This record gives sequence, C-alpha cells and structure tokens, in this order.
Amino acid sequence: MTEHPHPIDPGAPSAPGDHPTHDDWLHRADRLRPVTVHHIDGEDHPGGGDTFTVIAPRDGTPLAEPARAGQHEVDLAVAAARRAFDAGPWPRLAPAERGRALIRLADAVEAHRAELALTVSLEMGKPITEAYDIELRAVAATFRWYGEVADKLVDEAPQTPADALALVTREPVGVVAAVVPWNFPLTMAAWKVAPALAAGCTVVLKPAEQSPLSALRLGRLASEAGLPPGVFNVIAGEGPTTGRALGLHPDVDVLAFTGSTAVGRHFLRYAADSNLKRVWLELGGKSPHIVLPDADIPAAAASAAWGIFFNQGEMCTAPSRLLVHSSIADEVVDAVVDRARALRVGDPLDPATTMGALVTAEHLARVGDHIARADAAGARLRTGGTRLDRPGHYLEPTVFDRVTPDMALAREEVFGPVLAVLTFDTEDEAVRLANATEYGLAAGVWTTDLSAAHRLSRAVRAGTVWVNCYEEGGLNVPFGGVKQSGHGRDKSLHALDKYTDLKTTWIRL
Ligand code: NAD
Repeated sequence: MTEHPHPIDPGAPSAPGDHPTHDDWLHRADRLRPVTVHHIDGEDHPGGGDTFTVIAPRDGTPLAEPARAGQHEVDLAVAAARRAFDAGPWPRLAPAERGRALIRLADAVEAHRAELALTVSLEMGKPITEAYDIELRAVAATFRWYGEVADKLVDEAPQTPADALALVTREPVGVVAAVVPWNFPLTMAAWKVAPALAAGCTVVLKPAEQSPLSALRLGRLASEAGLPPGVFNVIAGEGPTTGRALGLHPDVDVLAFTGSTAVGRHFLRYAADSNLKRVWLELGGKSPHIVLPDADIPAAAASAAWGIFFNQGEMCTAPSRLLVHSSIADEVVDAVVDRARALRVGDPLDPATTMGALVTAEHLARVGDHIARADAAGARLRTGGTRLDRPGHYLEPTVFDRVTPDMALAREEVFGPVLAVLTFDTEDEAVRLANATEYGLAAGVWTTDLSAAHRLSRAVRAGTVWVNCYEEGGLNVPFGGVKQSGHGRDKSLHALDKYTDLKTTWIRL
C-alpha cells in the first residue's frame, strides 16, 4: 500500500523525465488558446454571443471568455443528442464498435495529456503534476476501461416452461444530461460520459462554470476521434440557468449529477417538475477517519494529512473529520501538523508545488468563514488558517483540534484544506461520532485488530470504507454514497445500471 495512494486509477506511472519544468509549463500556458465554444452535433458552436469569464485561481486574472448556453443552445444540444439516439447509428452499433470509438477517445486524451492537464490546472488551481499524473491518466483509463468492456456484457435468459422463452435485455435509456463539478473537471465527466456512451446512450455534458475549458476541449476531441455527430455534446454555462434548463428538459431521459447536496435537491425537483426523468446523485461528504489506539500511527497520520490536503481539500471524499482515540491524540495530531507544515503551497504550474490554489475567490472566502467560525466556537487552531499574501486564491493547510460534535466544523462540508480533530474513548463512541452526519460518502478505519476493522467497517454508514488506507480505487470497483451523499454508483459495471433499462420479452414458442 503506497503512502500517497492515487484515488482514481491513474494506471502506469509516468516515466522519469516525462515531466515538463515550471518554465516549460509557464511557456505553454502563455501559448494556450483554450476552446471557448460549445460542441454540439459534432461541431463547434459559438453560441449566441453571450459569454462569461473564467478566472485563473493561480493569479486571479481572467483566463477565458467561454460561450454561455441559454435555452436555445440547450435545446440544440438536447435535440442533437435525441436525433443521435433515435435515428443515429450509435445505440444500434455493434458494441465492439462503440467500444473502439471510446478507446480512440482514450488515445486522443493521452495524446493531448499535457494540454488538457494544463487547462485543468489553470482553470481550477490543482498542481500541474496532479493534473498530469493523476487526473489525465484517470480520464484516459476511464474511457479505455468502458471501451474495453462495451462488448463483454451479456443479457439473461431466465429458465421458463418449455413452450416459452423469456429474455431480459439491457437497453440504453436514451439522452443523458451530465452535470459535473470543478474539483476533477474531466474525471467526474469521464465517470458519467464513458459508461453512458458504452451503454449506447447519447450525452449532453455541462461542466461547472468555474472549469468548462477542459470539457469543451474534450467534446471536440471526441468528434475528432470519430464519435458520430450528436453522440457527445458539451455546453458551457452556469448552474441556475444552463444546468436548470437541462434538468427540466422534456427530452432528457437521465440526469447524472455530481456536486453539492443542496444542488442535488434541485435535480430531484427538476425531474418531478418535468418528465420524471431518472436522477442519479453523487453528492457531498464529511467523511470520518477513525484511528484506534493499536493503529500504525505514522501511517495513519500520513494518510489523514494526505487525504485532507490532496487537491486543496476540494475532495468529496476528503477525510475532514479525524476521529482519534484520546490516548494517542497528541501523537497523531502532532504528526499531521508536521505534514501540513511540510506542504508547499504555491503556483500550480510549478511541479514542486504540493498544494495549489482554491478554485475561486468566493470559495476561498467561504472556507475562511468556516475557519473563523471554528475559531469563535472554541476549536484550537494547530496550524494554518491564513491565506497567502500574494495574488491568487491560496490558503495554508489548516488543522483544528478540540473540535466538538456540535460545532459547525464537525458537521458542515468545507470542501477545502481544513481538518477537524475530535477524540473518543470507546469504539462505540467512535461509531456514534462517525455516523453523526447527514452524509455517507466514505470513511477510513485504522487498526491492526482484524475484528475491530470488520466491526467498524460494518457499523459506519458510508458508500466506501477504507481500512488502513484511504482513497484506494480501481475502475472495476464502484464508487458512490449513501444517506445525503447520494445514490447510484460511478465506475465499475454497476455504473452501467444508471444508463440502461431492463427489458423483458416473452416469446411463446
Ligand atoms: P455545485 O453543486 O455548486 O455545482 C455542481 C454542478 O452543478 C456545476 O456544474 C454547477 O454549474 C451545477 N449547478 C449549480 N447550481 C445548479 C442549479 N441550481 N441547477 C442546475 N445545476 C446547477 O458543486 P461544486 O461547487 O461544483 O462542487 C463541490 C461539491 O461537489 C461538493 O459538495 C463535493 O462534495 C461534491 N462532489 C461530489 C463528488 C462525488 O462523487 N460524490 C465528487 C466531486 C464533488
């Protein structure tokens, strides 16, 4: 088990010397001309002239002015996806052919890895090395995995009386609208788009308004890779307008959403207020990381620090509540604080940076407000808490101990590099604390006692429990939440359930 596990299946590591230098990245950034137009029906579409501004978190300056999709562009994109589904070849292609198209898209993502990684790092502020080594490899791996799986699915023929035949077949559901967040702009998109396309659906993707540029590029790449027109459309715009129009659209059959729990509620309403389209939700988290007294303390502390600070803490699965047995609390927290202080916060384009910039000035202010409230509530600030005095949205990695369950910091998702430490004295208390949340996305358990590991991983309500590790993942392993962290699963064959209907056909022989 590695000390810094990669959360999202990055595949084989980069070769040594594979990485451009800071100067190289700066030079490439100067020359980058991001795609700012929608991709509809296999073509770039400039929209009606309405645009919005994407700000670069690394320095707070405008990065691009992408087109903003109004109702007209939403209608065009959905109509293109509808035509491609109802009349186009895609759902009727041999599955192996659909698979080959997805594999060509995976190849195209790999061929454009540096450009896409740079775009991601510029638009949402993560370190370029993580965009390049983790996110982009995960995106290519996701399209490849679903491409390879497309022709390996089998249907069912249940046993019946001799004079009848029953077939249970999986049919693609239709037009999928995928609405995704900015923290892993391309990975979250790929986790929706790849299984939906493999199943034979067509897709309209709306990336987050903070990070639309990499997704717009992906749309163009997909057409260049030979996906038929209308199969994969990408439109940019804000949530309450473009996202809402997709949510309410009568010709959309499935809403696949990743984002906050608050916005997830809107999606359920959109379905109720329109055509009862089905809605799949991957939402927020406030994941507990439980450390029992017999744990491997250095490993548990390393994992706790890595988990909360990776991707600037902008992780749905971030283990934002460290629940530690009171007998070892000082030792564990000291080690976490040391690791926090050792991080290099700075320019995401510098390969030496280990923590980049938060996505927007508003988000930085929101995280700052969580810190101020924790302070006021009496939690003890052990390290961090201050934004860096330089342009851009930089915050020191922050650790609070002496957090109590009633404090907002123990209950609300911060989505930033802020750790809340709580202590417990018994296993039962640890479980009570772990489950004292509306969320249920993930949890970590650190113990060398096999029985305790089993007891706790059963008792904690979460979609994923990691024992003596955190953020391990594989494309063949499902990912998703329970409670108000959502339902349905991304990744693995289970993701295909969201994009297929079971059809039963009875034949009298
Ligand atoms: P968000 O909910 O604000 O936005 C997500 C997407 O929804 C964006 O594309 C946005 O434009 C759109 N949107 C916003 N308001 C909308 C509305 N009223 N109608 C329709 N669409 C709307 O979330 P965010 O700030 O982009 O991302 C952070 C959240 O995402 C966190 O809560 C995090 O935990 C969650 N997240 C969950 C997972 C998971 O797999 N469970 C993964 C990553 C992020």
